[in-house]
Amino acid sequence: MKHIVLSGPSGVGKSTIADRLIREGICERNISCTTRPRRVKEVRGVDYDFVSDSEFHEMVKRGEFVEVKEIFGHLYGTKLKRIQEAKKPLLFVVDVDGMLSLKNAHIPILTLFILPPSLDVLKTRLMRRGSNTMEEIDRRIERASYEMTKKDLYDKQVINDDLDVCYNKVKGFIESNEEFP
Ligand code: ADP
Ligand code: 5GP
Repeated sequence: MKHIVLSGPSGVGKSTIADRLIREGICERNISCTTRPRRVKEVRGVDYDFVSDSEFHEMVKRGEFVEVKEIFGHLYGTKLKRIQEAKKPLLFVVDVDGMLSLKNAHIPILTLFILPPSLDVLKTRLMRRGSNTMEEIDRRIERASYEMTKKDLYDKQVINDDLDVCYNKVKGFIESNEEFP
C-alpha cells in the first residue's frame, strides 16, 4: 500500500486539497504533532495533535517520531505508530525534508508538489486566509521560493490556479498509480 505526500509552499492550497481527498474517501489524514498554536478553524486531534514544547520533547525521547522538523519556530513530527497501524493510505502534508525523511525510512509514498500560479498569488492567498501577520507572510514567501526549487524531487507537480482543475489532476494522478492503494 502506498501513502500520499502533499508538499508545497504555505498558502498554496494543500489543506484545501487534502480536505477534499479525505472527504471523498481517497485516503485518511495523517495527524502530525505540532507545538504551533491552533488556528481558529482547526480541530484538535483532527488537523493536528497540538502539544506543548515539553510534551513534544518527551515524545522525541521516547522515539515516537519517524521524522521531526522545526518550521517557522514551531516543531512538527510524524508519528511512526500511526503509519504502522494504518489500514487505508495515509495523506501526509509535510515539507520537503519530511518527504525525504519518509523516503529514507522506507515508507512507500506517492509524492505530489503543489505550486502556486505565482508568488504574488500566493501572498494574496496567505493574506486572505488571515491566519498570519504580515511579517509571517513575508517569511513564508521567502521560504516558498526555496521550497519550489525542490519540486523535481516529487513524482508529480501540479499548479493550483483553478482549484477544481488542480484537484482533479491530483486525484487523477493518485488513482492512476498502479500501486495505489
Ligand atoms: P496550505 O495548506 O497550503 O497552507 P490552504 O489550503 O490553507 O493552504 O489555502 C490557503 C488559502 O488559499 C485558503 O484561504 C484557501 O481557501 C485559498 N485557496 C486554496 N486554493 C485556492 C485556489 N485555487 N484559488 C484561490 N484560493 C485558493
Ligand atoms: P502549517 O503550520 O501551515 O499547518 O504547516 C507549516 C508547514 O509544516 C507546512 O509546510 C507543512 O507541510 C509542514 N508540516 C506539517 N506537519 C508536518 C510534519 O509532521 N512533518 C514535517 N516535516 N512537516 C510538516
